[in-house]
Amino acid sequence: MTKPIALITGASRGIGAATARLLASSAYDICINYHENQSAAEKVMKQVEDLGSRACIIQADISNEEDVIRMFSELSSTLGPVTHLVNNAGILFPQSRLEDFSVERLQKIFSTNVIGTMLCCREAVKVMSTKNGGDGGVIVNVSSVAARTGSPHEYIDYASSKGALDSLTVGLACEVAEEGIRVNAVRPGVIYTDMHADGGEPDRVDRIKEIVPLKRGGTTEEVAKVIQFLLSDDSSYCTGSILDVSGGR
Ligand code: NAP
Repeated sequence: MTKPIALITGASRGIGAATARLLASSAYDICINYHENQSAAEKVMKQVEDLGSRACIIQADISNEEDVIRMFSELSSTLGPVTHLVNNAGILFPQSRLEDFSVERLQKIFSTNVIGTMLCCREAVKVMSTKNGGDGGVIVNVSSVAARTGSPHEYIDYASSKGALDSLTVGLACEVAEEGIRVNAVRPGVIYTDMHADGGEPDRVDRIKEIVPLKRGGTTEEVAKVIQFLLSDDSSYCTGSILDVSGGR
């Protein structure tokens, strides 16, 4: 029997890697996309294969249109056409006030987090849509509670890019609802990953956890489980939904 084929962007580390491992344990074949860290991606591929799934790794910068087109084409010719897409790759820069943002920083954030995610959605819809002869599919976007809080004094640019993903999720869900495609999003809160070091504060989760009602940071596995639910038929009546995984914050 053919297995579903999941493409997870940014799956070499953090939430993406945890999602790859969890989906492999529930009988998906997995495409692990990464940007720069090939050895980390290879490690995740080995873990996925050890769980009995077929896997491939594809280097692609999601902010680059040619890379995104090549990624979907390479996936089709290795594992097969994508059936489930997790738009997980995302970046942020060191904490800063808006008045100090450079245009280069803004362009990088929006070209990766927003345009990159939209390009991946575009290529997935081309493959999945029953209107185009596809069999349908499921997309999950990884947004952030920052879309709600706005991340003042830290990264309003990042928060705004995640706000755009929430709009994308709702709009695209309605646009393709009759074409066999469901589109939902998760909004993680503070999760223990490398990302906080990119923001200049590796221990940020332990600082913020005091204002989280559950009084702790989240794990990558806790986010992965919600992504898995939204990808599965267990969420068959959910589309355009945005689910917080944030300990109540
Ligand atoms: P992470 O540990 O920093 O990992 C980021 C992943 O994205 C890596 O696999 C990286 O690849 C990949 N990536 C970065 N830029 C890319 C690009 N241009 N093209 C393709 N891949 C790219 O991040 P994380 O914390 O797991 O975050 C995953 C998602 O969750 C992000 O969208 C983030 O905004 C969201 N999120 C995280 C938190 C949190 O507290 N951690 C909270 C809310 C939302 P390389 O390894 O090759 O560099």
